[in-house]
Amino acid sequence: MVHFVGAGPGATDLITVRGQNLLKEADVIIYAGSLVNKEHLNLAKEGCGIYNSASMTLEEVIDVIKKAEQEGKMTVRLHTGDPSIYGAIREQMDLLNELHIAYDVVPGVSSFCGAAAALKAEYTLPDVSQTVIITRMAGRTPVPEKEEISLLAAHQATMAIFLSTGLLKPLRERLLIGGYREDTPAAIVYKATWPEEQVFYGTVGTLPEIAEKNNITKTALILVGDFLGDAYERSKLYDPSFAHEFREASK
Ligand code: SAH
Repeated sequence: MVHFVGAGPGATDLITVRGQNLLKEADVIIYAGSLVNKEHLNLAKEGCGIYNSASMTLEEVIDVIKKAEQEGKMTVRLHTGDPSIYGAIREQMDLLNELHIAYDVVPGVSSFCGAAAALKAEYTLPDVSQTVIITRMAGRTPVPEKEEISLLAAHQATMAIFLSTGLLKPLRERLLIGGYREDTPAAIVYKATWPEEQVFYGTVGTLPEIAEKNNITKTALILVGDFLGDAYERSKLYDPSFAHEFREASK
């Protein structure tokens, strides 16, 4: 059996209880070494085979799993954040399907949630934005044309931009073409929830300069939108004059 486990954004106590239990039981752990906090590996039992997938191909990962299966061993495939976001798990699951190897997925706290906590922000403010767009700039991995940043920016929704810290000048250009203002609030969250976490506030216009000044080149999220501003409407849910299924309106 193979368990794809989300390790969470960094802090070792932000993995789920289920994920942590599986780590303790695993005979083999294959972890995404570029971003997963290595302290998670301290939970591995004695004799557990540990592999860093950063230096492996998909085929090599599958070979390790295949061998473990033949030996009746349990494998944890440990991904950063939540495995469903830029986790490249689909291709692994498809190969496991072909090999008739059983697997399941244990969700994790994605870094965009870790970043919201670092910012003490709410992404979905009434009257500001009720939508979070998770996206990235095209890099070596292409992005479908219809999802080009300026087209997404046209919605003026909250945006959480992954994998783009090295592309802040073109990112700024695309955001401005899409209709964000130079002074639309923006933030860079570096290593959210890690001990070395850093939060930088600025605007769409200042994003590249903030990163440059603070030497932020990777492991950061870019958050953009007026959710970082001061104006919003109170929620209806907790409004005294608003009745709903669980609460009557007060007079
Ligand atoms: N599955 C992961 C994302 C993997 S893609 C998740 O759910 O978070 C890797 C990108 O995620 C990085 O380039 C960076 O943009 C972002 N990232 C991952 N961990 C981060 C963290 N702790 N703080 C800020 N950004 C992070």
